[in-house]
Amino acid sequence: MSHILISDYVEFQIPTNGAGLIEYRCHPFWSQKYCPSHEHDNTARCCSCERLESWNVRYYSLEDGRSLCLECMESAIMDTGDCQPLYHAIRDYYEGMYMKLDQQIPMLLVERQALNEAIVGEKNGYHHMPETRGLCLSEEQTVTSILKRPRIGGRQLIGMRTQPQKLTRKCEVTAILVLYGLPRLLTGAILAHELMHGWLRLKGYRNLNPEVEEGICQVLSYMWLESEVLPGPSSRASTSAASSSSSSSKKGGRSNVENKLGEFFIHQIAHDASPAYGGGFRAANAAVNKYGLRQTLDHIRLTGEFPVVKT
Ligand SMILES: [Zn+2]
Ligand SMILES: [Zn+2]
Repeated sequence: MSHILISDYVEFQIPTNGAGLIEYRCHPFWSQKYCPSHEHDNTARCCSCERLESWNVRYYSLEDGRSLCLECMESAIMDTGDCQPLYHAIRDYYEGMYMKLDQQIPMLLVERQALNEAIVGEKNGYHHMPETRGLCLSEEQTVTSILKRPRIGGRQLIGMRTQPQKLTRKCEVTAILVLYGLPRLLTGAILAHELMHGWLRLKGYRNLNPEVEEGICQVLSYMWLESEVLPGPSSRASTSAASSSSSSSKKGGRSNVENKLGEFFIHQIAHDASPAYGGGFRAANAAVNKYGLRQTLDHIRLTGEFPVVKT
């Protein structure tokens, strides 16, 4: 968030401070201007796009305490069954990149609490974002997944059906878990990221440092988003038969609202401040742009590092 002090009149809802100045914060992507006090006064923030609820637009609240704005709600994926076509599309995307996953890895949509419990249940102390939205599971666990989407009751989403599901381990990867209630493009970005963790594990990549592993996973997430949001097939994915055939039909029907959200998720990946996810992504992306994905992956397998990109 940038922090700006100005003396001009901005938005009439923002009061002046003690010095007679209007103090506001501005979201770097949406340019939404708001009074800094709303960062601490429990004003709802959309868990997907980060925009704050304003006086004239009411958000939906999910049963696990998260809030969702109306625009994100439009394409939200709410239960495990709902998510299967997207999961298949992303597996097809991998196949189109010559990175087919032969194993049938189960994928479940879960609530925030179920996801956090599953993280604790993993012996392999993995690194995670402060607010984790997906997980590539290695241990056998019983996970409560969302069987039937909640219905809208006023501003609340209520009455979802969940079911505990025992996951047995058939290969290195037990399952992929994703937080429910996120828009299709964000859900897909998370799936693409977690599937890359799965791919690395299944292909025998071991003990990568967080920057390398998260960085390359973020690149796959970013590439998939680009292939969905940007007009025409993305240059790096142009070899992908799957991406041009399966998603182009849907591309025509995508609303401007959804495209703008996609651009935000792309922006978020590129500008992430964390060393593992942000720094890792930027290093991985530079390597992939210079050497291509295949060569970058081969180099990581041999050395555990990204190939050097001279500037
Ligand atoms: Zn939103
Ligand atoms: Zn990750």
